Amino acid sequence: MKPFLYTLAILIITFSCKDNSPIIPETISPTRDEHLALGNPSNATSNPIAVTNYLIQRSAYALSYNSTTNLTNWAAWHLSTAWKGSVDRYSGSFIPESSLPQGWYAARHSDYTNSGFDRGHLCPSDDRDSTVDENKSTFILSNIVPQAPKHNQQAWRLLEQYARDLITQGNELYIIAGTYGVGGEGDNGKANSVGNGITVPAVLWKVILVLPIGSNDVQRVQENTRVIAVWMPNNNNVGIEKWSNYRLNVDEIEKRTGLDFFSNVPVNIQATIEKQVDLQTIQSIFDEVYLIK
Ligand code: MN
Ligand code: MN
Repeated sequence: MKPFLYTLAILIITFSCKDNSPIIPETISPTRDEHLALGNPSNATSNPIAVTNYLIQRSAYALSYNSTTNLTNWAAWHLSTAWKGSVDRYSGSFIPESSLPQGWYAARHSDYTNSGFDRGHLCPSDDRDSTVDENKSTFILSNIVPQAPKHNQQAWRLLEQYARDLITQGNELYIIAGTYGVGGEGDNGKANSVGNGITVPAVLWKVILVLPIGSNDVQRVQENTRVIAVWMPNNNNVGIEKWSNYRLNVDEIEKRTGLDFFSNVPVNIQATIEKQVDLQTIQSIFDEVYLIK
């Protein structure tokens, strides 16, 4: 073949292939990311000397534990559909934390029995149903706090559901949930502790940062990034209200708790997203649940 025709043939093949190739859209798959990618809110460490701020990290979540209250300060977890699956919810007894330093008390399932408080998850079981082991790990009692039953089963649960709805709409989330203060009110009235000295928190709070699915998450946090924060006193009356009524800004939670959220995000962006109160209307298909009083 003459060089000219040869070149022409190549060109024709090249362009015809190009024209006929289906256009493959650039799909962005959700990933599983570091729970503390945006920061460690209390600089918790895994040194046993950190008796009030002891870091435990496992595949499903990270947390800061306080051995003087036998209660977790906060738990943090990344949430995207990459964490989701279809394993059955673990149905055994809740599991004592086995990774506490020697001599620290680890809560037992029975510490909550007949206490008037639920064994309330920080990182929800339904956020971790990809593998049996991960789901089971949400039932470790360091991820559990004494929570007023209606608080757990109504408002808090609906907020958890709202977060899971967001990840089916093209988002990934960084969630931190924690405890504050002493003394809540459960089904048997007010209490400061349950069982063998497990502190009942006065408040449960939660901070959710919402990003469209992507990579390099820390760099993608911008001044208009949505952050949802709630501060919900630990009683049944709050539980039957809408969680959206308990929204506030992150600065306020930082002020009350002494924590610093999103410390890996540049300070100017941090300042902007932390002073905003989320005002988005929450259209819940679960509104009827609030009628159960
Ligand atoms: Mn719960
Ligand atoms: Mn901050």
